[in-house]
Amino acid sequence: MKPIQEIYPQLTTPRKVVITMHQKPDPDAMGSSLGMAGFLRQLGHLVTVISPTNWPDFLKWMPGCKDVMDYEAQREKCDQAVFEAEWIFCLDFNALYRTKNMAASLEKAKGVRILIDHHEEPQTHFFQYGISMIPKSSTAEMVFEFIMGSGHADKLGLEVAQCLYAGVMADTGSFRFPVATASVHEMVAELKKRGLNHSKVHEEIYDNYLENRLRFLGHVLLNRMEIFYEYNSALITIPKGDLLRFNIRTGDTEGLVNYPLSIKGIKMAALVIDRDEERKWSFRSKDEFDCNTFARRYFEGGGHYNAAGGRSSDTLEVTAKKFKQSIQEVADQLK
Ligand code: 5GP
Ligand code: MN
Repeated sequence: MKPIQEIYPQLTTPRKVVITMHQKPDPDAMGSSLGMAGFLRQLGHLVTVISPTNWPDFLKWMPGCKDVMDYEAQREKCDQAVFEAEWIFCLDFNALYRTKNMAASLEKAKGVRILIDHHEEPQTHFFQYGISMIPKSSTAEMVFEFIMGSGHADKLGLEVAQCLYAGVMADTGSFRFPVATASVHEMVAELKKRGLNHSKVHEEIYDNYLENRLRFLGHVLLNRMEIFYEYNSALITIPKGDLLRFNIRTGDTEGLVNYPLSIKGIKMAALVIDRDEERKWSFRSKDEFDCNTFARRYFEGGGHYNAAGGRSSDTLEVTAKKFKQSIQEVADQLK
């Protein structure tokens, strides 16, 4: 993978570009992709943004979001766009499987693949150009730096700023996590100078749920959360019936895994949801517990040190039991 800066001299030659992200995109995946799309369009590129799956309603306000294609819903059109693309930007994911059904199409693509990402252990051999920086707060921060260093910083307008702010805000837990460095705050200052209304973006992302989601949250915290004080850990287990009962949709479970971390002494929180095809895991930690390694070792996943995800093809009961065994195995790291 060659340094991404090597594409700077080619930026002024308009190309057919596809930008894609990880499945079930979060604000960083969608925000960094739409921020990059807005920037490249101003330089005259023909840009198509494709999400491997659908996305939550709280992302729909983002400038450019209404033109994003859903690979699962428009497979043929998306395959065509990937086939024709000269550049394919892959944002906010480290491994091809994170694009789910779109992976085969990306693998066959003839265009130049370019990675911008901050997840651990990226598959760099798959990309011709790119940048992978694990310590970065967000892919949005990396896109910001890419634009600022490109010689076209004047093309970073308000719409791009809104998208990038959403990404960095979400991935830093609203500037709470240790990754919210001085340079993150300097980035925000720069976005503010370009007209960003940060309160508005926060409201769009966090104050846009329906009543059912809050009722669901109450139910889950009361009835589905187990605390293992011995291991400073917590587990939330969500059966399919709960998702149906509360009419839960993509995005409604976002942030749920963080709640147990607000209990004094809890170092690691896990959430498992019974999705149709698999049991989807989320892990979050404080301090010195490595979620990435834990997710890789026990649940076919990965991510970051303090936030990772994974999956299982076992039943909900079996995979929850496996979690309880796993925390016993890593007990020394949790105490
Ligand atoms: P979440 O729990 O929100 O799904 O994911 C937490 C973090 O881990 C996100 O940065 C997400 O991109 C990453 N992540 C989630 N699932 C996986 C996975 O299966 N593999 C890898 N490598 N990263 C994941
Ligand atoms: Mn991210």
